[in-house]
Amino acid sequence: MAYFKENTILYFDGAYINAAEGQTSLYMQTLHYGYGVFEGIRSYDTAQGAAIFKAKEHFERLLHSCELLGIPCDYSVEQMTEISYNVLAKNELTDAYIRPLLICDPNMTLINGQSSRLLVAVWEWGAYLGEKLLNLKISPYCRPHPRSIHIEAKAVGHYVNSILATSDARKSGYDEALLLDCEGNLAEGPGANLFFEKDGALYTPALGHILPGITRTTVLELCAEMNIPVHQGRYTPVDLFQADSAFFCGTGAEIVGIQSVDGKSFKKNWSEAIGSTLKKKYLDLVRTPQLHEA
Ligand code: PMP
Repeated sequence: MAYFKENTILYFDGAYINAAEGQTSLYMQTLHYGYGVFEGIRSYDTAQGAAIFKAKEHFERLLHSCELLGIPCDYSVEQMTEISYNVLAKNELTDAYIRPLLICDPNMTLINGQSSRLLVAVWEWGAYLGEKLLNLKISPYCRPHPRSIHIEAKAVGHYVNSILATSDARKSGYDEALLLDCEGNLAEGPGANLFFEKDGALYTPALGHILPGITRTTVLELCAEMNIPVHQGRYTPVDLFQADSAFFCGTGAEIVGIQSVDGKSFKKNWSEAIGSTLKKKYLDLVRTPQLHEA
C-alpha cells in the first residue's frame, strides 16, 4: 500500500514538508536499535469536521512511553495535538490514521541520547484487521517479559515481537495471532487487546503483560455505562475456549469479532454477542465528538 501521494504533507522536526522529501540520517538510534516510541491514533469525519479520538490520552501515553524509556521529547500534548490537526487539514483528510513517531538522533552507542525528532504522518486506513470475523492462532511467541522491557510503553522495538507473531499466524493460514504472556496466560494480539464473553459478563487480561490500550479503556467505560459486568484478571487459553464469544479492540482494528481460536469456534453468533453491541456503540462514539469527553 502507498502511504503517501505526490502532494502528501507530513510534519517532521519543526516543518510541514512534502512526504517524498522527508529525510533522516542513516545513523538514527531508532533505526539501528528500535529505540523510539510511537502512537497509533485515528481521526474521524464528524458533523463538526475532523475529530481526533482521545488525542489527549494518546499523546499522554506517548510522553509516558518517553519517560519510561528515557527518550527526550520537546513537545507537549497540546502541541502534538495541534500539529496533528494541521497535518490532517493540509492533506484535506478527516477520516484518517495518524502516526506520530519520535525518532532518536544519530547515536551508535547503547546510551540513551539527548534529543529526538517528531514525525507526524497521516494516511487513509480502513479497519486494520478488516471487517470479517477473525480466525486466530495462539502464537508460539509470547509477549515480552515485563522485566525485560516496559511493556506498557509503545516502543518501536516491541513490534518485532508483533511482526513475528502475525507473520507466523498468516503463514499457518490464520488471520491473526493471539499471544500469551510468559507465564502462559492470555495476553493480547500483536496490535490489539482481547476481551471474551462468558455468561453475560466480559473478561479481559489485567494490566501487567499488555499494552494498556486506549480502546480497551473505552470498552471498559462503555461497559460501565451499559451495566455490563467486566472482570480483569489472569486467564488461560482454556478460559477462552469455554467462552461464548470474543473480540479484539484497538485504535487501528477498532472492535473486531473473533470467529475461532486454534480452529475452535465460539458458540454464540457474533450478531448476538456483547462485542457486536459494543462495536456499534464504539463506532457511534468516535463519530460524535461531544461524546468523546463524556
Ligand atoms: N496492544 C498492542 C500490542 C497494540 O499495538 C495496540 C495498538 N496500539 C493495542 C494493544 C491497542 O491499543 P490502543 O487501543 O491504544 O490502540
